[in-house]
Amino acid sequence: MKTIGLLGGMSWESTVTYYQILNREVARELGGFHSAKILMYNVDFAELEENMSKGNWAGNAAILSDAAKRLESAGADFIVIATNTMHKLVPDIEKNIRIPILHIADATAARVRKDGIGRVGFLGTKFSMTQDFVLGRLRAAGLEVLIPDEKDIGLVNDIIFNELCLGKVLEPSREQYKRIISYMRDRGAEGVVLGCTEIGMLIGEKDSPLPVYDTTIIHAQEAARRAIE
Ligand code: GLU
Repeated sequence: MKTIGLLGGMSWESTVTYYQILNREVARELGGFHSAKILMYNVDFAELEENMSKGNWAGNAAILSDAAKRLESAGADFIVIATNTMHKLVPDIEKNIRIPILHIADATAARVRKDGIGRVGFLGTKFSMTQDFVLGRLRAAGLEVLIPDEKDIGLVNDIIFNELCLGKVLEPSREQYKRIISYMRDRGAEGVVLGCTEIGMLIGEKDSPLPVYDTTIIHAQEAARRAIE
């Protein structure tokens, strides 16, 4: 079995889900007492959040490259970055390590395509919804991607940082997300990508007007599969 290098803590609320899914998937596949071989580096998210709000992406690239190097030298076979937004820094991190990074967008695109879906709505941080580091990769895989309108991009982003990353799951925010997913459905989306690793705390299949593609679940399942293939 390969050892997964989990770059977590962004936020730790969603890293918990990664940890559970990685172990459950390996146990389900291999049975008995099997569990996943995981090395984890949990960052202090306050440092990264401060850098993001100041636009200091170089600072975050340095923190995450250092963490990835430590995981590599401790024996990780590949890296899983447990957040969509920090995939912006994949090219910077890759320069510092020799082991591969399992990209969250590639795992997600493959799952959506497998279901025969061509047009999806996408919810995530304002960085992920308005820049190319995840969306570009989904589009390159042949998907058409819709995002919320400008006002709702702000709302979706604020709910992530002011609530979900702090462990707050609030009903009025769930209703807002449902409204925004309905709006994307009305514009032709056939599924919705939960493109932020905390959104699954708020929206599940039963809440959503569209089939849900939760990047946390898909990414962790793919990582477990890679570890035991
Ligand atoms: N976990 C979130 C994501 O998947 C946001 C936190 C972060 O900025 O890393 O994008």
